[in-house]
Amino acid sequence: MRLTKLHVVTLRDDPADAEIPSHRLLARAGYIVKVASGLYTYGPLMWRTLKKISAIVREELDREEALEVMMPILHPKELWTSSGRWDRYVADGILFTLQDSKGGEFCLGPTHEEVITAYADQTITSYKQLPVNLYQIQDKFRDEVRPRYGLMRGREFIMMDAYSFDLDDAGLDASYAAMDRAYRAVFTRCGVDFRSVQADAGAIGGAGSEEFMVIADVGEDEILYCEESGYAANVEKAGSIPAEAPASGDPADLEKRSTPDVKSVAQLEEFFSMPASAMAKTVLYQATWPEAEGVVAVMMRGDLDVNEVKLVNALDCLAVVLADEATVKRVTGAEVGFAGPIGLAEGTRLLADKTLAGRTNLLTGCNETDFHCLNVNVGRDCPLPEFHDLRLARAGEQSPDGAGALKQARGIEVGHIFKLGTKYSTAMDATFIGEDGKPHPFVMGCYGIGVSRTAQAAVEQHHDDSGIVWPFSIAPFEVVVAIVDVKKEDQVAAGERAYAALKEAGIDVCLDDRKLRAGAKFKDLELLGFPVRLTAGRGVADDLFEVTPRESGEREDLGYDEAVARVIELVQAGRK
Ligand code: ATP
Ligand code: MG
Repeated sequence: MRLTKLHVVTLRDDPADAEIPSHRLLARAGYIVKVASGLYTYGPLMWRTLKKISAIVREELDREEALEVMMPILHPKELWTSSGRWDRYVADGILFTLQDSKGGEFCLGPTHEEVITAYADQTITSYKQLPVNLYQIQDKFRDEVRPRYGLMRGREFIMMDAYSFDLDDAGLDASYAAMDRAYRAVFTRCGVDFRSVQADAGAIGGAGSEEFMVIADVGEDEILYCEESGYAANVEKAGSIPAEAPASGDPADLEKRSTPDVKSVAQLEEFFSMPASAMAKTVLYQATWPEAEGVVAVMMRGDLDVNEVKLVNALDCLAVVLADEATVKRVTGAEVGFAGPIGLAEGTRLLADKTLAGRTNLLTGCNETDFHCLNVNVGRDCPLPEFHDLRLARAGEQSPDGAGALKQARGIEVGHIFKLGTKYSTAMDATFIGEDGKPHPFVMGCYGIGVSRTAQAAVEQHHDDSGIVWPFSIAPFEVVVAIVDVKKEDQVAAGERAYAALKEAGIDVCLDDRKLRAGAKFKDLELLGFPVRLTAGRGVADDLFEVTPRESGEREDLGYDEAVARVIELVQAGRK
């Protein structure tokens, strides 16, 4: 392909809304053009990259015997009510909904569990047809609260979504393991540095869920990992062994102490000369269930923090938010800063983190402005709370396996594998006839790869000050042959010859035949980020060509035959 025919339109300036390097570079290089918030047109070069990623995904999934299908984007509301998700997704504001001319309600698919479960129910009758793993690569629609960072968080984006159907848990384990293998192969081949981490499986969880994270400072997810043991988890899910708290002794008499203006944990540590780990703070949350709302109080060791995802799971609710000031005053009868477990308003559910189980003589708030209580013993002075793991793990704490300290990194979630079990098949009454002649719900897994997000994540990891440095496997072209001065016949002839030879050798090559000043041309090509450049300039008069790998920028001057051979060698190495 010739760049004169490829509709290459690079910009001089970064778009104003591009906050991170990969978004800036993709927009400036003309790979993506914004249509509206979270909506982009992929230009011809971007589309080549996206097709290459999709091809890698297809190859690896096909290798694991998954089957490609294509489902409708438009889903009838009835399907989503049959799984019970319509109301929740509408309440979360994530669903794009619309009506047809007859008043029927629909949504644009944000994910396809409902459609595929209905398909499986209609087409799979016997256990003899199982297992089946079905996937598609298609646009998904989500009305994200904060679309941003270009393709990272779009409102329409390309996803590979797969769904496995098995007859039992052992089958699901095998399907899940196959997808894990496929994902590792996909992301390795896409040239990104990734880590798979344990992920929150939500209130239905327990069965297992892992996210594939591309490590990058701009990642929206926080990961904790242990180099010694290989443990890695999304902070939403992560466990750890926190520092020991001091021994807490036999229960002593409850004491009420005046603590005017002493509210924060740090102030309390100083006032009582007591470590935060001997205190329990009480944090109030407003929780929402499908059909109810309520205030819950969470006791947490003073030096530790609440993990709200774990709290949602423990409550089996839809969401929690910190209670507002008015609620705190109503429930505690005190100003903010003095909440405690004793004497909370009736109906307030009391939870505590496991690190507080068995601890005695806690320092807590008194639910009275300017007072704290010493020697609080739950079960004696207040009802016994429900104990759960509600704590936010932190870097520096010991890995849950005790193998070493946890470290922190940030990641971009490019893939997610999830053991669903029978959640959807039960809700939607999707069954097969088992060997015992009875109906059984399908045991399902679901799996997603953000194809468009992966493309941008690759750029986030592979760029420098001058532009993109595409990995060979997903570059729009592996090689560009640049004719420096298209008015010079010898340069044109030499460039055309090298271009033809490389094409002949099976290299994915383009020819930069644009009429541009040499400096501008090189800058543009650096921005575009093709992995190797073969330059036909003034040197061709003496049979000299330049070979420049984009990543190192270290140019070699070689004769024609050596130059072509060197480019082929670089591509072959890059493809590995
Ligand atoms: P996130 O936590 O980033 O919102 P998610 O967990 O809701 O993502 P999944 O439902 O697991 O996303 O979707 C599967 C994959 O689709 C994700 O791993 C991610 O790579 C991609 N993806 C999800 N939302 C978006 C989006 N708004 N824009 C681009 N890609 C997305
Ligand atoms: Mg996810």
